[in-house]
Amino acid sequence: MNVRLLPSSLLLSLALGAAMGGVSAVACQGQSDGDDEGDGGAGAGDAAPVDYTASPLLSEAALLETSDHLASDELDGRDEGTPGGILARDYLVSRLTECGVEPALDGYLQPITTGQGTNVLGVIRGASPARAERHVVISAHYDHLGHCDGDICNGANDNAAGVAIVLGMACALAEAPPPRSVMVAFWDAEEPPTFLTAAMGSRFYADNPVVPLEQTDAVIVLDLVGADIWSGFGGHFLLGADQSPELAAALDAAKQPEGLLIFRAGLHLVEEQPLGIGRQPWSDYDAFRNKQKPVLFLSNGQNREYHTSADEISSLDGHKMELEARHLVDVVSQLAHAEATPTFDGARTDHVRDAETVIAVLDAALANGGMVDNLGLGAETTTKLEGDLTAARAAADKVASGGTLGESEIRRLRDGAQRVMCHAAPYYNEATCNVF
Ligand SMILES: [Zn+2]
Repeated sequence: MNVRLLPSSLLLSLALGAAMGGVSAVACQGQSDGDDEGDGGAGAGDAAPVDYTASPLLSEAALLETSDHLASDELDGRDEGTPGGILARDYLVSRLTECGVEPALDGYLQPITTGQGTNVLGVIRGASPARAERHVVISAHYDHLGHCDGDICNGANDNAAGVAIVLGMACALAEAPPPRSVMVAFWDAEEPPTFLTAAMGSRFYADNPVVPLEQTDAVIVLDLVGADIWSGFGGHFLLGADQSPELAAALDAAKQPEGLLIFRAGLHLVEEQPLGIGRQPWSDYDAFRNKQKPVLFLSNGQNREYHTSADEISSLDGHKMELEARHLVDVVSQLAHAEATPTFDGARTDHVRDAETVIAVLDAALANGGMVDNLGLGAETTTKLEGDLTAARAAADKVASGGTLGESEIRRLRDGAQRVMCHAAPYYNEATCNVF
């Protein structure tokens, strides 16, 4: 294949598309009904953790209302430094103020002096004097492309939905602060052309933190969490916890909502591209991982509407968003209550989970009504995906019997994940995705 095959953005999108997780054992409830005092059990400072998962602030209706506002034409695609981007910023400040999330610095705003954007930063002060200086960061980028396809690109999935979930969680946590502090970050300037540059909001923050990174225990990043990589999949991907045992323990302990299809895996599955192209980071987690911080990246992956004007509110799955939010808020609660400080080891892997996830995604892609059917893909793709599945099953058998995967076996796992991502995303034609 030619060089175009590998531009980083392409494969990157593919990888993300592969896995996602959903949430919600709690049935989707009606709309938010305001104050839920007494709903959650123990009060702030109590030994018993509050159960945030039942908060009406995390209902499907509440999350879609926020998403709908951010993805409205009035905000004009939320490009950084534009009037629409400023409207989005002001809206987030007013919502944080309303629900009692304090400014993390003077007035919530961190101007990105290396570019045109502005991060919005709030904090929920920890209830424990001993642990309040420790922070868990929950975050999502709020900017989008402005215009594309000659139209407004409203970015409902990218990333109004992620912002809505972070805002809902922040407001629920503010009602009964956990022992650790929670930093709430809405990053600006994630989208091209500032992606992975010094003008990207998350990178600017990592270089100019409001709370010292030494006091930052874990960073959670949401991007593309409102829709599916293909219609009807229902998957929700949680990536990166393999590099922090304490983060993995928080995920193990969190309640898993019934009906949420959660897939955990290492970032390497979606980042390390085939054909020797190298690593492609996909979102705001990169700046923090590069600072050796434990990161958890939630994404449902790139689909055919990614970075097009078709990424509208009508594409969002509100029920799945609610499940995702109810699951994630319990993960945050576990982290914010845990005694242990999360550690990071970039060399750690969990190939058991990697193989399980690749097998599950490939099974779903090949099933009746799965990706191949849904996207009208041909026989060659089916053959390729079946080969990926055979390799993934062999890898799973090997690690289950105590074996260690070699480089080529790990590469085959990545190929399976990345082939699904490639076909699901809008960039490449079918033959290109089958080149590797
Ligand atoms: Zn984007």
